[in-house]
Amino acid sequence: MKPRTTTWHNLSCEKVFWTLKTDKKGISEKEAKLRLKKYGPNKLPEKKGATIIGLFISQFKSPLVYILAIAGIISFVVGERVDSAIIFAAVAINTLVGFFEEYRADKSLKALKKIVSYKAKVLRNGVQKEISAVEIVPGDIIILDAGDKIPADARLFEEHNFEVGEAALTGESSPVKKSLKALPENKILAERVNMVYAGTLAFRGRAKAIVVQTGKETEVGKIASMLREFKEEKTPLQESISRLARKLTYIIAVISLIIFALGIFEKKDFLEIFITTIAVAVAAIPEGLLISVTIILILGMKKILKDKAMVRKLVAAETLGSVSIICTDKTGTLTEGEMRVVGVHCCGKMTPLNEIASSKECSTCLEVLRAGLFCNDATFHLDKENGNQDIVGDPIEKALLLAGNETGLNKKDLNKKMPRVDEIPFDSAVKYMATLNKLDSGKNTVFVKGAPELILSLSKNQKVNGKTKELDQKERKNIEKGLDKLALQGYRVLGFGFREVDKKERFSGNDGLVKNLTFLGFVVFDDPLRPGTRESFNLAKQAGVRPVIVTGDHKFTAIKIANQLGLPTKEKNVLTAEDLENMSDDELRKRIKGIDVFARVEPRHKVRIVAAYQAKGEVVAMTGDGVNDAPALKAADIGVAVGYGTEVAKGAADMVLLDNNFKTIVRAVEQGRMIYENIKKVVLYLLSDSFSEIILILGSLVFFLPLPILPAQILWVNLIEDTLPNIALAFDPGEKEVMNEKPRKRGVSILDKEMKTLIFIIGIFTDIILFGMFYYFWKTSGNLEYTRSIVFAGLAVNSLFYVWACRSFRFTIWHKNPFANKFLIFSTIFGFLMLFIALYVPFFQNVLRTVPLGVFEWSVLVVFGILNIFLIEIVKYVFILRRKKIK
Ligand code: ADP
Ligand code: MG
Repeated sequence: MKPRTTTWHNLSCEKVFWTLKTDKKGISEKEAKLRLKKYGPNKLPEKKGATIIGLFISQFKSPLVYILAIAGIISFVVGERVDSAIIFAAVAINTLVGFFEEYRADKSLKALKKIVSYKAKVLRNGVQKEISAVEIVPGDIIILDAGDKIPADARLFEEHNFEVGEAALTGESSPVKKSLKALPENKILAERVNMVYAGTLAFRGRAKAIVVQTGKETEVGKIASMLREFKEEKTPLQESISRLARKLTYIIAVISLIIFALGIFEKKDFLEIFITTIAVAVAAIPEGLLISVTIILILGMKKILKDKAMVRKLVAAETLGSVSIICTDKTGTLTEGEMRVVGVHCCGKMTPLNEIASSKECSTCLEVLRAGLFCNDATFHLDKENGNQDIVGDPIEKALLLAGNETGLNKKDLNKKMPRVDEIPFDSAVKYMATLNKLDSGKNTVFVKGAPELILSLSKNQKVNGKTKELDQKERKNIEKGLDKLALQGYRVLGFGFREVDKKERFSGNDGLVKNLTFLGFVVFDDPLRPGTRESFNLAKQAGVRPVIVTGDHKFTAIKIANQLGLPTKEKNVLTAEDLENMSDDELRKRIKGIDVFARVEPRHKVRIVAAYQAKGEVVAMTGDGVNDAPALKAADIGVAVGYGTEVAKGAADMVLLDNNFKTIVRAVEQGRMIYENIKKVVLYLLSDSFSEIILILGSLVFFLPLPILPAQILWVNLIEDTLPNIALAFDPGEKEVMNEKPRKRGVSILDKEMKTLIFIIGIFTDIILFGMFYYFWKTSGNLEYTRSIVFAGLAVNSLFYVWACRSFRFTIWHKNPFANKFLIFSTIFGFLMLFIALYVPFFQNVLRTVPLGVFEWSVLVVFGILNIFLIEIVKYVFILRRKKIK
């Protein structure tokens, strides 16, 4: 083989075949294995390293760390070694925890994104196979259809209306028309129209090509090192949380200054009040907020993935919870998508499939099935490993292939006799597929299959019992009636027609070729509903999410399916493509409320549908599979690509449905709501924690009391005891009752009235209790060190208690299963352990200036901790009652 520095666009196809020792049938599996070893896997080199160090360094770039470091140095210089050591320990803990959490989050996010490796179609020894794109080698023949991602650099040798979007590589936004002829060597990349390049997207038509370069040798591979790494944008919630955190930081800074000024005014020891100020600031600034939100979003993505949907962007994990409309495809998403031919409808009647072979009277039936084999790209494929016959291809075409076989027709034989010379691939925008097949008679035949009304309207004649007759108005009406009857039963119906044309004619040279057809008949398919879809529809409705069917299929078929799913859909609840065409956007907005089904729509209509809903303030999820669906998927709040969909659709989507199932969308919405609630829980806990700590210190100064707690003790509670419970809340399993409520409105603040009240109440109750204890024990004992130990323990015990109340906004604490969150149990136990260490281990007694507490003090602490929970639960309950009333 030649060295791989050759250019390929200037060579003839034959030369390329010869150079790469391959042919139109492709290389053998054995050869492919050898080449894979030689050239390596077809993937781009990954960057790693540097980022870990970068992440670590970034931990030090926070105002919090600066404040702490300065405070640490000052205390060291003035000789407060213990305080200084504690402060530096706090810095270390803070950065390490931050680093590990962010590192883990980053790693899981990357892992989540890697999961969908895409497939490519290759010919090996003449057999078409789907393999992982990583396994492609130079010399492979790849088959490219509209919507495919191009897996490697390749030279085209066959194409039909083939167009490729190369924006990723050349920046050119309009699709490039491809051709086959060899080009002058000096052509630049963007002009090498006989080549396709890895990472670009097939937009139209279909083609075959010889792979010439793979992996890092491809054009993208060569510039990969220049490409910036994709950076995840912050989600609106992350944005608003960081804004909140920033705002709080300023507020806390101001309060800290007030505390400091008050302390100086009251002539407290300068160093003591200085370090206290710092400790309060550190304790109150909710630095863990943002990373907790990120962790919750990622955990949610993982759970959704377990349910078989892959969320591609963090922001989608968040938006999912507020989805209020789900526009779903019918075929394959609501139904199984595994079609079966029930029979053929022609010559005015329906013949069941098993009677066609034996029926002597109707030869047209067989002609319909024959057309179904010509207009067909599905193929039998023998799996060498288990000896099974598989069929690869479109579900409709698979069913046609099987039906042909059952009636004794053979696609291979037919195509040998009348080979295909040209084709128009199926496109959901035109709703048909056509092939041009060679005849011996000096004429060629066009076969067309597609949406039945369309085929009928393209036909001039019809074939009845082997004879061609004109298709007059009366006949048309009859056939349409037959079609409606079939559709009303929920069958999927496809129409077939043909036409003889001159030998020279080709599709590309003549737009009018698919016209004046001779109508053959319908094939009737059965496509049963997926089990459980009806239940999912009900769940969605119960959750205030409206499911809407948006299908390319016949109106009546769609109505029947909608009824089967429990929607009371009548004709007036349906809009067809025709209705949409005759309707302004304004009108659509007015009518859209009562619509359950959009039928016979083209992908471009989907964009209008999304826009109309969005204009009404709805948050829309929309499914799609084809190239043309990409704009609608982008426009929707949650674009959902089905798993069997094209790479283009997947690229435009926010979520990929790995199992194609509607149920999974509803599950993801449920998860989205749980994600949002967990974020609320964390915010509630962290902010009430901050609030109570600030008020405690500020209050003592306002009332001219001695400091009720020492700086080191505050840091201990905040950094050592409360970090884990906070993370544990992120892991709290959601409540399925989220699906009993209406979707959250777009853009509402996470700090709603209930949250603010709860934060305030929790903080105030905790402080009242702590002040009460402080005052009582100080007055009765006169021992400040002892009293502070009690307040310190009180602060710790309280937050370890009320974290349990933060687990639900819907249920009181005694209605929650305490064992559902093992991590929280562990964190609480760990928190108490740390408290015991602080109180009873001599070394820490020394450092934290604590004294051991006895049974009496502990009893008081526990009683007050429980009392605090009671108070919080009463407030929660008031809100629960109020919500019930509103409903
Ligand atoms: P849907 O899958 O919701 O029915 P599509 O846009 O995929 O919508 O298809 C629209 C219509 O085009 C179908 O209802 C059917 O009549 C027709 N159609 C679908 N697949 C094919 C195909 N492979 N060849 C020809 N016609 C097809
Ligand atoms: Mg479809």
